[in-house]
Amino acid sequence: MNSKKNDTDLKEIKVCCTTCPKECVVTILVQDDTLVKITGEGCKRGKKFAQKELTDPERTLTSTVVVRNGETTYLLPVKTAAPIAKKDLAAVMTLIRKTTLTQPCDRGDVVIPNICNSGVDVIACRSIKGDWHAC
Ligand code: SF4
Repeated sequence: MNSKKNDTDLKEIKVCCTTCPKECVVTILVQDDTLVKITGEGCKRGKKFAQKELTDPERTLTSTVVVRNGETTYLLPVKTAAPIAKKDLAAVMTLIRKTTLTQPCDRGDVVIPNICNSGVDVIACRSIKGDWHAC
């Protein structure tokens, strides 16, 4: 998020909408903590994203979790099942880094329930089957 003030005390904030791959750069004009205008959004979801970004920004986090089977180690892709507060990302990443699985799992299985009491689960993005191959 970039911001600057202009002569009329309007604060201009630029955010990159992460709702879809188009990644529009949305400009938000704020005066006295009040949203004045939003421009640059490619669709109405961009306006909603910009408003949320001002008050309570969230992100879906993707990462990997270590899976061990004896001497063999895999990295299992995981993600949060829903967006989580941006301020909690560092704590969530710390917990994900400390997590090690020792059992096969299916895509969509909960790897870490209710991570950091966020109400959001971390789920597997791939399956690790019984013969310990990723698929
Ligand atoms: S504003 Fe709309 S089109 Fe642009 S990135 Fe966001 S969701 Fe996609």
